[in-house]
Amino acid sequence: MYCPHCGKSLADEAVVCVSCGRPTSSATPGVQDSRELPGTQYGIPSLVCGIVCWVFSFWLWPVGAVVAIAAIVLGAMGVRRRGRGLAVAGIALGGLFLSELLFYACLGVALFSAGF
Ligand SMILES: [Zn+2]
Repeated sequence: MYCPHCGKSLADEAVVCVSCGRPTSSATPGVQDSRELPGTQYGIPSLVCGIVCWVFSFWLWPVGAVVAIAAIVLGAMGVRRRGRGLAVAGIALGGLFLSELLFYACLGVALFSAGF
C-alpha cells in the first residue's frame, strides 16, 4: 500500500509511515489529534477571537466577552503545543479585554452607587 499523506510505498501491515511518520490508517484519529496538530491550529483562531473581541468591545460588549472567553479557551488548548506564540497572544488579548470589561463594570457600579 501507499502512504495516504506522502504517497510513499509501504508494507501492507505498516501502521505508521516510515517516511513522514503519520498513521497510515484514518481509523486512529485520536492519535493524530493529540500528536500532529501544531499549536497554530488553536493559536490562529485564538488570536482572531482576541482581536475580534476588541472590535465588539464598546457597542456589543456581551458578544465581546463571549469571544474573549473563546480566545482564552482556544489559547489554553494551543499553548501546550508547538507554535504557541499565537495562542499566548490570543490569551493575552482575551484576558486584557475581560479585565478591562471588569474595570468598566466596577466603575459603572461605583458611579451609579455614588448617585450619578
Ligand atoms: Zn507518509
